Amino acid sequence: MPADLHIHSNLSDGTDSPGKIVEMAKEAGLTIISISDHDNVFGAKEAIDKGLEIGIDVVSGIEFTTEMPNTEVHILGYFFDPANPILLETLEKLQKSRKERIFKIIEKLQAIGLKISPEDVFAYSKDGAPGRPHVARALLDKGYISNLKEAFIRYIGFKGPAYVSHYKLSPQEAIGLIKSVGGVSVCAHPGVYYNDDFIPMLVENGLGGIEVFYPSHKPEQIEKYKNLAYKYGLAITGGSDYHGLNSQKEVKLGDMAIPDGLVEKLKAKIV
Ligand code: AMP
Ligand code: FE
Ligand code: FE
Ligand code: ZN
Repeated sequence: MPADLHIHSNLSDGTDSPGKIVEMAKEAGLTIISISDHDNVFGAKEAIDKGLEIGIDVVSGIEFTTEMPNTEVHILGYFFDPANPILLETLEKLQKSRKERIFKIIEKLQAIGLKISPEDVFAYSKDGAPGRPHVARALLDKGYISNLKEAFIRYIGFKGPAYVSHYKLSPQEAIGLIKSVGGVSVCAHPGVYYNDDFIPMLVENGLGGIEVFYPSHKPEQIEKYKNLAYKYGLAITGGSDYHGLNSQKEVKLGDMAIPDGLVEKLKAKIV
């Protein structure tokens, strides 16, 4: 039976509520899902409760944006206690920095003549974690761009005039934190980084799995990362990275779903 372990709700940069996602997953025939919002677990309770109610296994999840000298690396965490106070304290710091960053991005956009305010962005992120896709939605709303990707190319991407970084954990810190709250860490979408030479370092620091199945991975990348998983004894995971209306390309919930058995193997990696 299929499992989708990479999903974003409207509590980060997706557009569907956690409860709706669980319902959609059930309808799509998925048996296990995880909502892996960026740097927060605001949706965990709603999703887990809904899963219990309608009979679908909801595993706690998160996707940390971590920082390395030359690249950003996303570290997924699963099976941890989403109510752990140590975790929540760190997440609060990350959320605060994400909010402050929106003000800085808006200042830069205003400086180049765009009429946009922080409130325009927060109207999209609501009580959740604000991110660049919310800025993109606000820019689209105002007619400054004709699709979300254009926002990254013209304004808020790494090389754009309104790019602003935010406080991030190092990959080692993220892996350590996930472990300390009872979870297992997975290197998200290894095929999207500038290079993947850092994977052995993540393994040395306690990485438990690697996201082999991912919508933008080409067949040869899937093969490559499967081999890396065997080489380093990592669990193999996968998922859609569904973001609702903020999804990249035409990604649907359940795309790149994996057999339940792989989720069991991932769980066995908890130390
Ligand atoms: P943030 O975490 O706020 O820096 O925003 C990063 C998020 O923006 C990613 O998780 C994707 O959802 C989205 N994203 C990144 N690059 C692009 C792009 N080129 N086009 C559309 N969405 C993107
Ligand atoms: Fe995202
Ligand atoms: Fe990611
Ligand atoms: Zn993601």
